[in-house]
Amino acid sequence: MLYAPYPNKQINIPYLLKIGNGKIRKIGKYLVDKNLTHIALFWSEGIEHLLGEKLYEGFKEQGIDIVHCQDAQFINIEEITRVAFNLPKNVDAIVGIGGGKALDFSKFCAHLLKIPFISVPTSTSNDGFCSPSASLIVDGKRKTVKSSIPFGVVVDLDVIRSSPQICLYSGIGDMVSKITALYDWKQAVEKGLDRYNDFASMLAYNSLDLLFLKHSTDIKSPEFQRSLVTSLLMSGIAMEVAGTSRPASGSEHLISHALDSVSKRPRMHGLQVGVATYLCALLQNNPSTDGVRDTLMTTGFFEYVMQDPLSKNEFIEALQLSPSIKCNYYTILSEPDSFARALQFIDKDPILNKLITY
Ligand SMILES: [Zn+2]
Repeated sequence: MLYAPYPNKQINIPYLLKIGNGKIRKIGKYLVDKNLTHIALFWSEGIEHLLGEKLYEGFKEQGIDIVHCQDAQFINIEEITRVAFNLPKNVDAIVGIGGGKALDFSKFCAHLLKIPFISVPTSTSNDGFCSPSASLIVDGKRKTVKSSIPFGVVVDLDVIRSSPQICLYSGIGDMVSKITALYDWKQAVEKGLDRYNDFASMLAYNSLDLLFLKHSTDIKSPEFQRSLVTSLLMSGIAMEVAGTSRPASGSEHLISHALDSVSKRPRMHGLQVGVATYLCALLQNNPSTDGVRDTLMTTGFFEYVMQDPLSKNEFIEALQLSPSIKCNYYTILSEPDSFARALQFIDKDPILNKLITY
């Protein structure tokens, strides 16, 4: 058998889950309701300046004691470990507010100390705000490190609405990738190379339906943004249920990881993932390829990426590297003819050759 036996594993879900307008001001109340009053706070750079006043007002009203507060400027695993074990002993929860860095930092800190982590994303650029892993620097390289799913997720839609447009497109790219990830997972199971989890896959499929079937594709509408948040959140929970990143990460993520290491100027995670999803759907002959194309077209994702296309040379280098990024991880890229077929698609597909250019 090439994969581990069923783990006797506890599945965690967020116990505190609030999505709506004006939520930053209410975080203090939510914490007190869960009996969490001694808080370590980590901000992404520049965010305290924007949201600090509202948060602190709410904290003051509720009598929250901030035992530690800093900007999370690094995601180096040794540094985070040092900060975690130097926090005051009376800390009973960690709150991370911001984009990727503050959330990865706080999530791993809380995981080390086995205390609750409350995730407060300020953008929806990927599914990391509610996933059981953290993206950290280990031995000088960016790695996905096992962590714990947040105890709480608080999403203030007023804040999401004012986040840069690139974050929304990145979130859409990360979301649509479930289509190719789930297909790769199924194929791996059929070849006896991985184990399936029906419930996790149902969650992931439903999260896609929620976003792409229920609403118009007007990404500026509050309904779309709420659905994007919920879909990304469900995708994170699907990974927790599966005990693997399979429901959310397949061939398209391998290409994006490879691009991160070969590109002079890597693009935001979900932008790379979205482009790679379209290519991988073509490679897989995925029955939902038209759906992927239509979604990325009508939301304006393709047009957005075409304004600053990916480098063809770098993309080809990433394609060569991608099958070896994760050991024992079957995806469509493991097939011997995939590389040659991918080159043909990049040359001949009228959309891909505008997304990936010299
Ligand atoms: Zn992702």
